[in-house]
Amino acid sequence: MTDLSKELRGILASSCRISGFPAERVEISSDGTEKYLFRLEDGETVESVLIPDEGRRTLCISSQVGCPLLCGFCATGVAGFRRDMTSAEIVQQACFAANRLSERGERLSNVVFMGMGEPLLNVPEVSRTIGILLSQFGFGISGKRVTVSTAGIVPEVLPLALMHPVSFAVSINAARDDLRSLLMPVNRKYPLKEVVAAMRRIPLQSGRKVTAEYVLLAGVNDSPEDALALSRLFRGARIKVNLIPYNSHAASPYRAPSADAVDRFRNVLVAGGVQTIRRERRGADIRAACGQLSGSVHISLRGDAPLPYEMRSLGYPHRRNNGGHSPRLSPGGKKS
Ligand code: SAH
Repeated sequence: MTDLSKELRGILASSCRISGFPAERVEISSDGTEKYLFRLEDGETVESVLIPDEGRRTLCISSQVGCPLLCGFCATGVAGFRRDMTSAEIVQQACFAANRLSERGERLSNVVFMGMGEPLLNVPEVSRTIGILLSQFGFGISGKRVTVSTAGIVPEVLPLALMHPVSFAVSINAARDDLRSLLMPVNRKYPLKEVVAAMRRIPLQSGRKVTAEYVLLAGVNDSPEDALALSRLFRGARIKVNLIPYNSHAASPYRAPSADAVDRFRNVLVAGGVQTIRRERRGADIRAACGQLSGSVHISLRGDAPLPYEMRSLGYPHRRNNGGHSPRLSPGGKKS
């Protein structure tokens, strides 16, 4: 590259490195969703998912190798937490997808931090990545089309929201602290009240809302009473709910709700004045749907494999060797 000065070439050679980042494996779903497996330089692996949908091309990216949060319904935490990803590693997922798309004359339009890991436990690298995604010298994607999804790491929400005009999604998954702590141990540190207060503080442009993600687990959090409690929690807030019917994986004992249960839940929310959308399941045949990403680690826990500590200590729920049925929790939190 002799059109750069010798001095600049020297600086670049000593401070920068151009590395390729090809996917080690590409899987393509019957619905057009693509899942990429990347091997990082230290041998660790992460996955990303490209979801084509009408005009949009959305990439779901990972920000950590594994996850420390151990949400009971999510495959990512099962193999434990390995390490934070660097911004270079996070951005490279987008480079790979953008290159693939450009070969078909398409453009990456949206990025969601909903792959492996908890982005708000890796804020410096995630923040750098967002800068590159939004910059005209990077991907030039509008902040509206970049969504950071968090399990609710309360102290990190507002600072990141003030730094970058991106969209926020918060995984709520239960309207009561006892149930949420059971499903998401992080709730013991940042309980619902604080999480919802943080969501209310996110600055929003007119007409925009914060998304509350709610994974529906049959017989656990999908009753009309749960929906009513959720609508009360969000009363008067600029929050919309994204209902995600549970996607199964071998390491989790839960079951997907029936279509009727999803409709009932949705109707209660809508009647309570809460805007509600249902997330379509995409890429399930290649295990690329929400909560199914686990890196190369093939998860096939035996029915009697130990549950993460938090869930064992609460004696709930039972694994598949119990017939695959989770005991139902009544609104008071008691098993029935
Ligand atoms: N750590 C971040 C982002 C990763 S998970 C967060 O918690 O938001 C992205 C979304 O997938 C979350 O809303 C999570 O609740 C949901 N999810 C996890 N496992 C799932 C499963 N098995 N089925 C459906 N959705 C799941």
